[in-house]
Amino acid sequence: MLNYRNCQICPRNCSVDRTAGERGYCGQGSDIVIGAAALHFGEEPPITREGGSGTIFFSGCTMGCPFCQNWQISRGIAGSPVSVEQLSHIMIELQKRGAENINFVTGTHYLPSIKAAVIMAKGKGLTIPLVWNCSAYETAEAIDELNSFIDIYLPDYKASESHLTERLYNASDYPEVAEKALKVMVESRKLKFDDKGKMLRGTVIRHLVLPGELESTRLFLKWYSENLKEKALLSLMVQYSPVLIPGNKVEIPLRYISEEEYEILLDYMDEFGIDDGFFQDLEKTSDWLPDFNNKIPFPSKQTKVIWSSVIGGFVL
Ligand code: SF4
Repeated sequence: MLNYRNCQICPRNCSVDRTAGERGYCGQGSDIVIGAAALHFGEEPPITREGGSGTIFFSGCTMGCPFCQNWQISRGIAGSPVSVEQLSHIMIELQKRGAENINFVTGTHYLPSIKAAVIMAKGKGLTIPLVWNCSAYETAEAIDELNSFIDIYLPDYKASESHLTERLYNASDYPEVAEKALKVMVESRKLKFDDKGKMLRGTVIRHLVLPGELESTRLFLKWYSENLKEKALLSLMVQYSPVLIPGNKVEIPLRYISEEEYEILLDYMDEFGIDDGFFQDLEKTSDWLPDFNNKIPFPSKQTKVIWSSVIGGFVL
């Protein structure tokens, strides 16, 4: 049974007692801390639909990407605590304001509390699909637990080469763990849509292309085409933005994906016969990057904040 007293919720297996103030790799105790809740209109179309995805952004992270766009919350610098009851209320409020689903962004390290909040929210009338937006770095036990309440998996597959995952995420076991996790997610959630194209169940596998690391992307696309094509949807993201996190070594070039790299990616898609799913247009802007020190952390109109950690409550 996954718990905070001897925490082995993720593959880091820290075995710390988070209820007694000990901290593992994710940096979080047993109280839920969130950065914001918002209606987000920038997710993949079957997840966004008309009402937007009801995103809830959790503080802390089991990966610690050195280029994280949400670093203020993933490093635990920003965010406010909420109780299980308050989290269930936020889900209900997102549903009331038109959210197509509830989208738990980086919630792995709070899995037991999120499950408890979902049970509470369902008792209050929560009916929309539940989306698990994660890094794919999940244990078999965690996926078992998630399968009892999650409808849609939205994992972001990081990289296929263990030397790269060791350097970027301190996790040489990432490719092995994540590939196993993806297979289980896809097998346990067959694709299902309503008659308007809204996703009700299934898996969308994201992959963020890193500048200068295209071979890693090629290996992933090959693996995807051999193992999961047509059983899941692929979302290839080229929105990498140079982010300087205080105190971090620069591990990835501080530049956007180039036009030449974008052309190479198109060739890869042809090479592996991948023609469905989602492929972002190349954009070279950081205008959308959030700042969780602001009452409204997202500058883009694509994200409508309904709960802010700066005010510790709902935005009217
Ligand atoms: S959830 Fe946090 S404390 Fe628990 S095993 Fe993972 S990183 Fe360690």
